[in-house]
Amino acid sequence: MVNEKFDVIVVGAGPAGTSCALTAARAGLRVLLIERGEYPGSKNVMGGVLYRKQLEELIPEFWKEAPYERPVVEQRFWMLGEDSLFNVGYKGMEWAKEPYNNFTILRAKFDQWFASKAVEAGALLINETVVLECIVEDNRVVGVRTDRPDGEVYADVVVLCDGVNSLLGKSLGFHKERKPEEVALAVMEVMDLPAAKIEERFNLERNQGCTIEIFGDATKGLLGTAFLYTNKDSINIGVGTTLSSMIKSRPRPYDLLEYVKNHTMIKPYIKDAKMSEYAAHLIPEGGYHSIPRMVGNGVMLCGDAAQLVNAIHREGSNMAMTSGRIAAETIVLAKQVNDFSENMLDRYRTELMKSFVGQDLKKYKDATHTFENYPQYFNEYIPLVNKAASEFFTVDGTSKWEKQKKMMSTMFEGRGKLKTFQDLYRAWKVMK
Ligand SMILES: Cc1cc2nc3c(=O)[nH]c(=O)nc-3n(C[C@H](O)[C@H](O)[C@H](O)COP(=O)(O)OP(=O)(O)OC[C@H]3O[C@@H](n4cnc5c(N)ncnc54)[C@H](O)[C@@H]3O)c2cc1C
Repeated sequence: MVNEKFDVIVVGAGPAGTSCALTAARAGLRVLLIERGEYPGSKNVMGGVLYRKQLEELIPEFWKEAPYERPVVEQRFWMLGEDSLFNVGYKGMEWAKEPYNNFTILRAKFDQWFASKAVEAGALLINETVVLECIVEDNRVVGVRTDRPDGEVYADVVVLCDGVNSLLGKSLGFHKERKPEEVALAVMEVMDLPAAKIEERFNLERNQGCTIEIFGDATKGLLGTAFLYTNKDSINIGVGTTLSSMIKSRPRPYDLLEYVKNHTMIKPYIKDAKMSEYAAHLIPEGGYHSIPRMVGNGVMLCGDAAQLVNAIHREGSNMAMTSGRIAAETIVLAKQVNDFSENMLDRYRTELMKSFVGQDLKKYKDATHTFENYPQYFNEYIPLVNKAASEFFTVDGTSKWEKQKKMMSTMFEGRGKLKTFQDLYRAWKVMK
């Protein structure tokens, strides 16, 4: 395929792989970036919120050239009932101007642009090439075998950024088959709608975006979320729940998305919008306890391949970018001493764990499992919050004292005072 030996082979041109390739190429290393898709982004799926900070560390003022959709100026969180919603959120005009906070993106456009930056920095990108396996000699990864004729290629280090399934990581024994409670299955559609309609419906100006995260009835009370994100002239709508919840309750993912699209509270936002893309994808949501071994002799795992997703804050792309960058910085140091052993490369793991990636995953280490094991947070409390809000805000001649008392007793209606306080304490403990 390519006869020369590289310093680094990166498998997968998603956010993790491209930031690794970019950082390593900028440091003067010979980098090969291999992507199985027709082009970077062609196979990639994301709800679509890209965070500024971690990309800015790689490409200052990237928003001046990156193909983003809209800077997000408002984030809403809906607790959805069957025909009601309880809404909290924040809108701030400081997010409408540089340097912005975060952006909606479409991965097919964004990943292509991002990978072009790695190529500009000197990385060699090869598309439409599947890495079939890692080549291991004397207990050390020394290269990869691809599906191209003469498809073996060698490097000092191979960085696996091959996404949530990471078949390559699995075949090297880094992880086993993902457990159903460690991954969420998400389905989403991109629905075309003229910009003016989006701005009217979401109360936005040109070049302003809104994200809505939806809990409760959107997943029929299962652990998971639905989302509505505004692009320039389309809306991303999707829903996801853990595989274990799907196995238990057996909703068909596409039926769940249809349910979301037809929900009284959601339907008006997508009226007359036309579906232009449909996708289904896994999200690693096992968190801290599911992070596998991330380094071996001559090999490292980054991004989704290492389960680096903060499901509580729907952050994955930024964690992927930071892990790719730190992996590359470690390889640069390893190159200086010509040592690519697991011991040397382990600096990547320790630095990553010191960064916001490790810290945030540690903070929420028990959250997903707790919400999975105690489904009342989603299927009991959200309907009660809606009921209590309805009672409180309905003006019917009852005094506000009475209303307040009624609202409190509604909240205890489901599980009683003691159990409700226990649930509150448990939630506080895993989120604090
Ligand atoms: C529905 C959904 C919504 C999401 N929403 C958000 C969000 O709003 N914000 C956010 O930050 N994150 C979000 N995420 C998570 C985010 O998409 C991931 O965390 C992020 O894409 C991980 O990047 P990565 O580079 O590790 O993997 P990926 O983006 O999956 O990239 C892996 C790449 O490797 C390639 N590849 C795989 N195997 C091979 C092989 N054998 N040979 C060659 N190439 C290979 C693939 O084609 C792909 O390009 C969402 C995910 C989903 C599914």
